[in-house]
Amino acid sequence: MDARSVIVAKRDGLELTPEQIQWFIDGYVDGTVAEYQAAAFAMAVFLNGMAPRELEAWMKAMLHSGKVFSFPEIDRPKVDKHSTGGVGDKVSIPLAPAMAACGLAVPMISGRGLGHTGGTLDKLEAIAGMRTGLDEETFRRTLCETGLAFGAQTEDIVPADRKLYALRDVTGTVESIPLIASSIMSKKLAEGLDGLVLDVKFGTGAFLPEAERGAELARVMIGLAKSLGVRATAFQTSMAEPLGVCVGHALEIEESLACLRGEGPDDLRELVLLQGGEALVIGGLTDSLDDGRVRIAASLADGSAMEHFERVLAAQGAEPGALGRLDRAPDFEELKAPHAGVLEYTDLRAVGNALVDLGGGRRRIEDRIDPAVGFEFPHAAGTRVDEGDLLVRIHHRAGNGLADAQGRLAGALRVVDAYDPPPLVLGRV
Ligand code: URA
Repeated sequence: MDARSVIVAKRDGLELTPEQIQWFIDGYVDGTVAEYQAAAFAMAVFLNGMAPRELEAWMKAMLHSGKVFSFPEIDRPKVDKHSTGGVGDKVSIPLAPAMAACGLAVPMISGRGLGHTGGTLDKLEAIAGMRTGLDEETFRRTLCETGLAFGAQTEDIVPADRKLYALRDVTGTVESIPLIASSIMSKKLAEGLDGLVLDVKFGTGAFLPEAERGAELARVMIGLAKSLGVRATAFQTSMAEPLGVCVGHALEIEESLACLRGEGPDDLRELVLLQGGEALVIGGLTDSLDDGRVRIAASLADGSAMEHFERVLAAQGAEPGALGRLDRAPDFEELKAPHAGVLEYTDLRAVGNALVDLGGGRRRIEDRIDPAVGFEFPHAAGTRVDEGDLLVRIHHRAGNGLADAQGRLAGALRVVDAYDPPPLVLGRV
């Protein structure tokens, strides 16, 4: 077999055999298949899709490209959560410790920033010393000792997704149902889970903005989980406006800490309660979502979620006192309302790309992220503002990328006569 024939078959819309799929994934991981060949293949999948059987084989080949965990030594239910990605989406950071504080084991393997969206790993690495590229032994020990672990795709753990995720980010091949579904589910099913809660985004900041396509993605992911006997449920939630107030790595850690202290912002807290409550139901720790929500809220109020967060940070190398020393960009600029009216976010993807302009995201695989830059959006969509009210505070470093970011933001927010934003939670799929 050779890479060219597999690429050509996919380009011509044929269904690949399990052997072709296995050969291609193995070859990509061991270097026989070159990056440019994988990029051409990803574009062919983007354009032609994958049949259900083909996708299942592709996801399983990705999953088995590395170690697949099992944790027989842990008697707690193993449940995780994953989002399809968004702007200001920091839910996993307060949610995972709250789930652990309520009695679940949370072996969380996340991704880095992808396209215009931020990544949990990059956000956590805004904390000085925090390591996420854990080997199996450290991941297992951290999970046993703290009830949760924040890991990454590595050379041992879903290496196929590690390479493909970074490649898709810079080759315009992110927004594809089979590529998103296989990327997410190969990572998640490598965790040895009993259950999974999926947060499927819709709106201009989502990879798939239309709610219908999001629902299709959710159904595909739930089917892939089922093919391996893992229970999964999905909620569709809004990315029509930033989640919470802050966008940017260190700023989002600060906002996550507020949530872990039992404070707002309200939309972030609501998604933590909803998805945490559902995780407790899936894990069999309660029968009702309402009771699950109450337990998650109690873990935020009594400090046990925060305690779990501090424990996992210490186990993963964070420096003592690092949470009190988060990096803040030295300069800021403000964008104000040009007249009175109601705030509308018209293009959240542009907001995510404006963060990349400032240095808070990647244009090339090797780019380093500046965790200190970002934005504060003090008003939710639909809020009435007066002329001169603050719409965005831009935290930048010496004007780096500022003009481009300002240009994008100017087109991404509008003050209009009337605007009714979509609900935060559209429903369960
Ligand atoms: N999150 C992932 O892990 N992979 C994708 O492709 C998109 C979102």
